[in-house]
Amino acid sequence: MTRLLKILVWVAAALAVTFAAAAPLRAADKKITVVAAENFYGDAARQIGGAGVSVTSVLGSPDQDPHLFEATPAIVRRIAAAKLVVYNGAAYDSWMDKLLKVTAAPGRVVITAADLVHKRAGDNPHLWYDPSTMPAVAAALAAALGTIDAAHKDDYVARLKTFLASLAPLDEKIAAMRAKYSGAPVTATEPVFGDMAAALGLVMRNASFQVAVMNNTEPSARDFAQFEDDLKNHKVRAMFYNTQASDRLVQRLVALARADGVPVVGVTETCPPGLSYQAWMLRELDATAKALAGPGS
Ligand SMILES: [Zn+2]
Repeated sequence: MTRLLKILVWVAAALAVTFAAAAPLRAADKKITVVAAENFYGDAARQIGGAGVSVTSVLGSPDQDPHLFEATPAIVRRIAAAKLVVYNGAAYDSWMDKLLKVTAAPGRVVITAADLVHKRAGDNPHLWYDPSTMPAVAAALAAALGTIDAAHKDDYVARLKTFLASLAPLDEKIAAMRAKYSGAPVTATEPVFGDMAAALGLVMRNASFQVAVMNNTEPSARDFAQFEDDLKNHKVRAMFYNTQASDRLVQRLVALARADGVPVVGVTETCPPGLSYQAWMLRELDATAKALAGPGS
């Protein structure tokens, strides 16, 4: 069966389930159903929606490489039934573009983070590491929820204010680290932390190597040699790697960095279970500050 045909069959099944479930409303059914492609956007939706929303996040398992994700019929059903969908865009989660098309529903609100921050396919897709992205997504979530559920519009606006205020410690930390470490050369096995590194003023090396790893292709021998040289000769102050997508090549570089005494910072694509977006970012910034401060700090 072709991929498209398979998706259409799922959609037909999803719609059948949706209609069969249109029984009398229970309290739980009155909640606004939200699907977030990634769990950090889902966390923001939960923080802004409060008790008024029921959020399903698709990507969030720490053992999963989001770049290799494939949708399942259960996810198609959720998307078909959602009142609000929030996803990253910029080709990070193109499966969502396809599923939104085949489950087209009038009245469903869709928020695409990439559109809000004017990013597109080909840009570094890990947009949530750019400190300007989450405030924009949060504002869009509050506006969408206020449109879907006008009776509680003020509640969403109030929670948006709380959410934006809760990002202040993050911004302060970024500013403090930038003042201290701006211009410091670093490297990474993948561009996942790239936008945050830029916000910190760090000079990121080995960009084409990172794109190859992100796309699950083999980096060139030249890029690999350059990376190795950066570690061996301490041309970088720290190395970031993605703990969620660390194949053998990445593990080899982690081992090499450790052997060469280059501090290693593990970062993740999605929010670790049990942490809010804010707590997750602060934790990674703390780890980064520790690495940049150097050994013995
Ligand atoms: Zn990634």
